[in-house]
Parts: sequence; structure tokens; C-alpha cells
Amino acid sequence: MKAIDITSKKNRKEKLSYEEIKYMVNSYVKGKINDHTMSEFLWSVYYNGLSMDEIFYLTDVMINSGDKIDLSCINKKVVDKHSTGGVGDKITLIVSPIVACANVAVPKMSGRGLGLTGGTVDKLESITGYKLKLSKKEFIKELETVGCAVISQSETIAVADKKIYALRDEIGAVDSIPLIASSIMSKKIASGSDVIIIDLKVGKGAFMKNIKDATKLAKTMVKIGKYYNKKVICILSDMNTPLGRNIGNALEVKEAIDFFNGKYDKRLYELSVYISSLMISAARKISLKKAKELVINLIESNHAKNKFIEWIKYQGGDIKKLKDKAKTYIVVSDKCGYLNSIDSLKLAQLVHDLGAGRKKKTDKIDYAVGVTLNKTLGEKVNVGDILGVIYYNKKVKDMENMFRDSFKIDKKKRNVKKIIIKTIK
Ligand code: URA
Repeated sequence: MKAIDITSKKNRKEKLSYEEIKYMVNSYVKGKINDHTMSEFLWSVYYNGLSMDEIFYLTDVMINSGDKIDLSCINKKVVDKHSTGGVGDKITLIVSPIVACANVAVPKMSGRGLGLTGGTVDKLESITGYKLKLSKKEFIKELETVGCAVISQSETIAVADKKIYALRDEIGAVDSIPLIASSIMSKKIASGSDVIIIDLKVGKGAFMKNIKDATKLAKTMVKIGKYYNKKVICILSDMNTPLGRNIGNALEVKEAIDFFNGKYDKRLYELSVYISSLMISAARKISLKKAKELVINLIESNHAKNKFIEWIKYQGGDIKKLKDKAKTYIVVSDKCGYLNSIDSLKLAQLVHDLGAGRKKKTDKIDYAVGVTLNKTLGEKVNVGDILGVIYYNKKVKDMENMFRDSFKIDKKKRNVKKIIIKTIK
């Protein structure tokens, strides 16, 4: 077989065999074909697409390129949750302890933020002492005792995806539905859960900019799940607006703590309760209504809060010691009207520029910086009202205007877009 022939075949829009896809992926992983040759192949897939069979083949080859975790030894139902990445997305910090309280294990291998979207690993690293690397034995023990464990993505799972994803990122070939679907699902399936809930973000601050493409991606991932006998449920959620009131690593941990102390943003609460309920309902095979009642009870009775504290402490973290040393800069409104939109992309860019995100994987980040939003969608704003606070250590040129420009304040109030768009299973 030759790489050039396989790429030419794809350029002619012909279907590739399992062996051809395996040859491309494995040769690239072993260094037998170079970045340039692989890029040509990826671009061909990007423009010509893949059939469902080809997507299954690609997913399968990537699963088999690394370790597979067997969680069947855990004496509980196991459910994994994945977010396609958003702005202010601290859902994992909130739902993992809630679901663990319902006797369902939540094994989470999370990633770092890359580009403008944040990563759970960076948020957890803002807690002094939190250990992100556990051995397989420690990971399983924590799932059996505490019920949830959040660690950094293993280097040995879906090895081919890591290498291919890095190349896609470099050449700008990320937003391809077959490539995203096989990338996410190869990691999730190799990680061993039977039930996988995917929070698929849609809007300005997400990979998927519109509902049509997001629906197509969701349906593709559900089909991959069925092929492997896994239950996959995708929730399409709005990411035109940041999630919750804080963006930035330590700030988002604080918001999760606030949540468990009963102080929460309405949209964040709605999505957290919905995702937790879906996870419990799918894992324990109970109705969504019953699962939702249970979730609300776990939050209100402080069971979920105690589980959150137990989990962080078990992994060595001290929530009283957050890496949150930053100066503050208050931004007030120069307009009067209704807050009709908060631009998640603009705020993500500001938070990134403040130092919360990295351009290269090896960049150091500042855990303390970010922004807090004092106003929420649909709220009345007067001149002089505090819009929010910028947490900074090094000032960014024009940061006040960057922050203020993210808020669209109009005379007329518009309808607030729903956070949960639809669910696909
Ligand atoms: N997240 C992934 O894991 N892979 C993609 O391709 C895109 C988002």
C-alpha cells in the first residue's frame, strides 16, 4: 500500500477500506509517513468527508492504537461525561460529585485548555495540592470509594488521536464532523464506560457554530456508540453566552464552590441539573423525572457539596488554598437598557490574553486571572452599574473596552435563548 494512492482514492471520493485507513493511521503513528503526507490525507477527508463505515473504521483504528481501560471490576454503574469545550464551562466540577452521590461512578479523564476554550485539568490545577495523575489502581479505588475521580488524559489512550489531533490543530483542519466524531469517540470508548453523555456546545464560543452541524455531529457520535454497544446521549447546549458568571481557572472553581453553597447562576444550574439527571437516569435506568428529583435533593441536602469536598481532598487538593492572587479592575456600564447578549468569544479572547489560556501546549498559564460577570442575560442595566470585574496580573491593552464591548445593551429587551437546545440519543 502507498499513502499517495489512498489519498488519491479519497480525492476521487471513493470509499476506503478498513485496511487502507489502518495503514494511514498506523504508518503516521510509527513515523513511516511524515506530517506533510498525513496533512494531505486529512485535508482530503476534510473536503470529501467519510461514509459512516469509514468513520467506524477510523474510530476503531484509533481505539486500537493505545490502551483500553477495563472498568468492569467496578461494582457500580459507570457513566462518563464529555464536553466539546466552551467558555466558562465548569460543569464537570459540579456534576461529577452530584452523580457520584447517586451511587453511579464517574471516571473522568480531562484535557487542558487549548485555543480559547478552557480545560478542566487547568481548573483543577488551580487548587493547591490537587493530584491529576493517578495510577490505574488508585483511579479505580477512588471510583469505588468516593465515586468520582477526575484525572488528566492518559498519554497511552488513543495514541493515534493525540498525534493526529495535534496535526489537525496545526494545519487548521479541526472542524470536520467525521474527524471530530472519531476523535472524541475513540477516547471515550477506550476509556471504558458503557454510558457516555456528551455536552455538545453550539455557538460563537464553540467548535460547532450552528445547530445543523451540531446535530449532524451528535447523530454521528450516537451511531458510533451503537456500533460499540455503548449508550451515547448528546445534549446540544448554547455557547453564544459564557456558562455561569466566571471565566478563568481559579474563578471557575470558586463558582463551583458557590454552586454547592446555594449561590448559582440560573443557566448554569439548569444545565448542571439536566446533565446530572441524564447521567443518573441512563446509568440506573430510572426515569428522567425521578433522576431530576434525586439530583435536586442531593444538591439541597448538601450531600453533593460534601461529596465535592471529599473528592477534592481525596486527590490531595485544598479548596481553601486556590491559586487566585490577582488584582481587580471594576468595569461599569456607560449605557442604559437591557442586556441582550454577552459575547463568549470576545470574553474568551480577553481571558486568554490575560494569561488564563495557552497558545502552545507547553505555555505556562496564570490560574488566577479571568473575569466575573455581574449582570446576566435579560437583566436591566443602568449607567454606572457594575458590569463585572477583570482579575489580572499584567494589564492587557484596552482590556476595559474589550470587556465592555462583549455586553450588548439595547433599549428593547430580546428573548433570552434557552441553554438546552435539544437532546439526541
Ligand atoms: N475534541 C476532541 O477531542 N477532538 C476533536 O476533534 C475536537 C474536539
